[in-house]
Amino acid sequence: MILTQKPKKQFFFISGFIFLLITGSIIWLTSIVMYQRGLTRQSQDGADQLELFVTYLQGVLKTYESLPELLATDSNLVSALLNPQEDQRIAKLNRYLETINSISDTADTYLMDKDGLTIAASNWQEERPFVGRDFSYRPYFVEAMKGQLGRYYALGTTSSKRGYYFAYPVRKDREILGVVVIKVNIDSVEQKWGHRGDNFLVTDPDGVVFITTRQDWRYHTLRPLAKEVRQRIIDSNRYPNTDLEVLSDVRKELDSNLKLVQLHQQDPQNKRDHLLLTRNMPEAGWSVHIMKDTLPIRENVMWVNIMVGGVLLLIYMMILLMVQRQYRLVELGLMRAKTRKALQRANEKLEIRVQERTKELTETNKLLRKEIKDRQRTEVALKKTRNELIHAAKMAVLGQMSAGINHELNQPLAAIRSYADNGKQFLKKGRHQEALWNLEQIGELTERMAQIGIQLKLFSRKTSGQIGIVPLHGVIDGALEILRPAIRKSGVQISVDLRPDSIEVMANNVLLQQVLVNLIGNAIQAVEECEKREIEIEAYTVDKMVKVLVTDSGPGIGEDDKAHIFDPFFTTKKSGQGLGLGLTITERILREMRGNIRLANQAESGACFEITLERA
Ligand code: ADP
Repeated sequence: MILTQKPKKQFFFISGFIFLLITGSIIWLTSIVMYQRGLTRQSQDGADQLELFVTYLQGVLKTYESLPELLATDSNLVSALLNPQEDQRIAKLNRYLETINSISDTADTYLMDKDGLTIAASNWQEERPFVGRDFSYRPYFVEAMKGQLGRYYALGTTSSKRGYYFAYPVRKDREILGVVVIKVNIDSVEQKWGHRGDNFLVTDPDGVVFITTRQDWRYHTLRPLAKEVRQRIIDSNRYPNTDLEVLSDVRKELDSNLKLVQLHQQDPQNKRDHLLLTRNMPEAGWSVHIMKDTLPIRENVMWVNIMVGGVLLLIYMMILLMVQRQYRLVELGLMRAKTRKALQRANEKLEIRVQERTKELTETNKLLRKEIKDRQRTEVALKKTRNELIHAAKMAVLGQMSAGINHELNQPLAAIRSYADNGKQFLKKGRHQEALWNLEQIGELTERMAQIGIQLKLFSRKTSGQIGIVPLHGVIDGALEILRPAIRKSGVQISVDLRPDSIEVMANNVLLQQVLVNLIGNAIQAVEECEKREIEIEAYTVDKMVKVLVTDSGPGIGEDDKAHIFDPFFTTKKSGQGLGLGLTITERILREMRGNIRLANQAESGACFEITLERA
């Protein structure tokens, strides 16, 4: 799977949308469920609290319910009703009622005649006593006059205090003479239950709030009052000086005793829904309610929503992270693959280059090997050629030498013949003395010839080429001896100067002699045509080396030729006079003896060859 940037963005966009959709739906569902559950729980709680409140109210009423009936049996009341004009009796009754009122902790206790006129009252001493007032319009009076317990709750017209009235007929022989009434103060109920946080309400059958733990709700109605109802309430003087405003609107009736209502309040915060639970108290003629704020349910729902949202967000983030990680991994994989490919390509390139190089190297190697073989072959050929050349040069020297020898031997031979002839003649003539001299000359000549033979023997002796200690003067003498005929013939002046006389070098005797023969031979040839015919052979030591210089007074070597004189077959001589091999052979022989030869610079005309050899 190849994941590029575009689908990645799309994925995040779509997943975000789906997440919002799912989260919204879940929160919506949770809200509904949680709200319903909250309402159920709250209504259960409310019902329990309401039950407690009702029980309490019933208890309160029950306490006072039988008191008027008890009072009605009192003879004082009967006699007072029978004799209402007796002031003393009435005054006594007033005090009596005051005492009863104080003991029973009721608000007021009073006695009315059958017309509804109050003849005695516990509050006879107060500013506005009931005595002399007509309460015949009060429903409790009407009830009691019918012979039964009258119950009523109303705002006191005189005291403006709320109270619950119990009235009971006072009889004499079944005839109802009047009614005894007690008024129970119900302010204490509100005080007792007001601090609990929940709002308790007691309403009359018209829905007017009569008792409530919220003072500002007092005398409000739970539903809008019809015009005639309102008029009736005003006429009954039950709640004087009240507006009877509507407290709340019913939003939803969940059940006959359970409603969702919205308060009619200025403060928008208080406009939220409240749960209204109702319980009828038919014995008291009222309904008891509890109004519970739904804010805790909403708060609960909100917190649950926050938690659910948080958890979902967390899950979504984790999924996003995982997906992101997956993307990363894939991208990493792609990058790795790319890098691997690049590396592979580079590797292949490198391998190709290495192969090319190896091929080149192999070819170069092959060429080198071939070259080495060629060189070796050339070397072998060269060695062979050199040996042949040496041999050829030897032969050439031999030729020269044999010509010289021939010349040298012919002369003494001719002389020996003439000396022998002369000696014969002198012997024949008896001239012994002259014959002896001639014989002596012959002896000397043979001696000289023998000398030539020795030289020839030395030269022709096969050399092993081995290097050893060679006295330099001996070699020079040998070379000069070989060249003696040529020297004599050319009339060249040869001087030899060795410093010191006994210089010894590391060389091969025969080969070094051949070198010197070559050099001196060349020098002789060079000076032949010149007027000044001088050759100087010098030798001296420098540290561990010996320098031998052969200098002639000849024409020297031309500038152009200097670079070529050691080349094989380079010669400036006429044909038959030289092959151009002498210096080549000389150089190679010297190199073999760890020596060398060079053309030294010379101030005067002529050539000067400088040989360097190891000192023995
Ligand atoms: P070749 O004597 O047979 O010519 P070499 O190798 O001995 O061969 O000498 C090469 C050349 O060097 C000669 O032809 C000559 O031109 C030059 N050469 C050698 N020695 C001398 C010298 N002493 N004076 C002048 N030229 C010389």
